[in-house]
Amino acid sequence: MAALAAADGRAQPQAAAYELRLRPDFETQGVSGSERIVLRRREGEDWGRLRWPLNGLRLTALRLEGQDLPLPAAGEDALLIEIPPAWRERRELILALRYEGRPRRGLTFGAQHVYSGFDSCHWMVCDPVPGTKARFTLELLLPQGLRSAAAGEPLAAVALAGGLSLQRWRQQRPEASYLFGFAAGRFHEALEPAGDKWLHYLGLQDEPAALRRKFRDSPRVLAFFADKAGLPLPDARYTQLLLPGSVAQEASSLALIGKQLLDPIEQDESEDWVIVHELAHQWWGNLLTCKDWSHFWLNEGLTVFMTAAWKQQRWGEAAYQRELALARRRWQTAIDAGYDKPLSWAGDYPSLAIRRAIQYSKGALFIDALRRELGEPRFWAGLRRYTRSHAGGSVESRDLQRAMEREAGRSLAELFGRWVY
Ligand SMILES: [Zn+2]
Repeated sequence: MAALAAADGRAQPQAAAYELRLRPDFETQGVSGSERIVLRRREGEDWGRLRWPLNGLRLTALRLEGQDLPLPAAGEDALLIEIPPAWRERRELILALRYEGRPRRGLTFGAQHVYSGFDSCHWMVCDPVPGTKARFTLELLLPQGLRSAAAGEPLAAVALAGGLSLQRWRQQRPEASYLFGFAAGRFHEALEPAGDKWLHYLGLQDEPAALRRKFRDSPRVLAFFADKAGLPLPDARYTQLLLPGSVAQEASSLALIGKQLLDPIEQDESEDWVIVHELAHQWWGNLLTCKDWSHFWLNEGLTVFMTAAWKQQRWGEAAYQRELALARRRWQTAIDAGYDKPLSWAGDYPSLAIRRAIQYSKGALFIDALRRELGEPRFWAGLRRYTRSHAGGSVESRDLQRAMEREAGRSLAELFGRWVY
């Protein structure tokens, strides 16, 4: 794999692991943190120059291998580090830093809860490139009595003086930084087994019995995706956190789900897309992550398609066709706006809705077109081949093409050329 280049074309060091201690401040809606980051030189590459955005976070200390480095100048909203020549031969270096700030994005505070979503590099210092994966340890400094959820497995909490507790989480499977999610609050909690995995439900308002009822189809959805992926759920447990509003955000072993999106299931059981879509991301998006944002359609197009495929199996053919018809209507809005772009188009879209009409809706329609082109057994075998071959890694459109071509036994260049490139 070619090294990821910084804006100036030079190679960048890779983060192999982050250890973060984070203190969210409910009064100021700010954060302070201290981080230890294992930097790694890419195989066969120079160290190059580290350049990460700070997104308004203010560094108060910065050390590389125990030696102080100058802090970014006022107005310089990026972390820029030239690796000193003395360390050029080293394979790994430890970067330690402290910071504080009031994130503009990525964190949502309530009176007694906080949750992150997508923009991790606004509340911690990290590499925002999705194809760069790292292990993540998080220690949340919280008022006692709050429950938390975060990436990976919980470690024992530590009670501290001053009514605080340190709640610790560890994700040892490298993940993209945008998936380093967490939430904390006075949550109700329910836990239920699903095969050899655990489904964990948290809610701000709903009691455990209501949480179990609202998420009752989750074990079936989990089994459906494990079968289609040819791989079990990546982590031992998966948390769904029910929040007010309309949030729908996947994170590592965690999903944030807004009540406004979940409540329609009470009237119509087949309106279950939010549970299904976010759970599908644990494989497509999280376990296999787009190498850069121009391949984001692989995360979202596959997930929208898999949601439709779940509905077909659970609720019938008409439910599948309804999802495709909805995708067609959305794609049409992009066509009408003059933005019928190839799926891997890297340019800017005029709006989030138009971008989604391509990457989500057209993406799902393309996967359906592949399904019709290959026929059932070959298509699903191709999807399993793609998923299993790249599990834990990052992907680009050619990876899907190659997996599907292996099962088709012929070139799909024309079809991919028409939709993707
Ligand atoms: Zn999604």
